[in-house]
Amino acid sequence: MGFELPKLRYALDALEPVVSRRTMSFHYGRHHADYVATLNALVDGTPFAKLDLLEIMRLTAGDPQQQAVFNNAAQAWSHAFFWESMTPLGGGGPRGALATKIREGFGGFDGFRKRFLEAAVAQFGSGWVWLVLHQGRLAVVRTPNAENPIVHGMLPLLACDVWEHAYYLDYQNQRLDYVKAFLDRIVHWNHAEAQLEKSVL
Ligand code: MN
Repeated sequence: MGFELPKLRYALDALEPVVSRRTMSFHYGRHHADYVATLNALVDGTPFAKLDLLEIMRLTAGDPQQQAVFNNAAQAWSHAFFWESMTPLGGGGPRGALATKIREGFGGFDGFRKRFLEAAVAQFGSGWVWLVLHQGRLAVVRTPNAENPIVHGMLPLLACDVWEHAYYLDYQNQRLDYVKAFLDRIVHWNHAEAQLEKSVL
């Protein structure tokens, strides 16, 4: 029992050439798997073992005594969400209510894209860039290391991992090229639209 590595909805090479099979095999098969295994080892025999990842994240966020538990739970959750934020033949643009919200929040899709790319470049060191719903409006936020906007009361719609392990094998130090390719070719707008729909149910 314990937490399990979620199955990918696509093959390890399905996001090529934007994300190579080699990157996916390390990122999913080693990094994500290690976060799950480390979390299982940390929570074994503790009350956390009976909770889900979101409950663990909420209970341990900001607690220096539980930082390792938070980091591994948040990374386990964020990576599962990140795999869902990508799809072969993705890209294009959002539709429906999400497209309307993008216009309201950023003045249009180009404004959103510019903001997302700026955030990805501005994140110094390891972290994440997110499209979130916060107090009824969309925002682009970045978080360092394992931090997750959920614990700040925001609803993630999309995640882009900007840790070097996400892109270094394919793009070396060119993070901007990686995030541009993510947005233009593999981002999964249906996933983001589904998150927004859930929020208004
Ligand atoms: Mn990662």
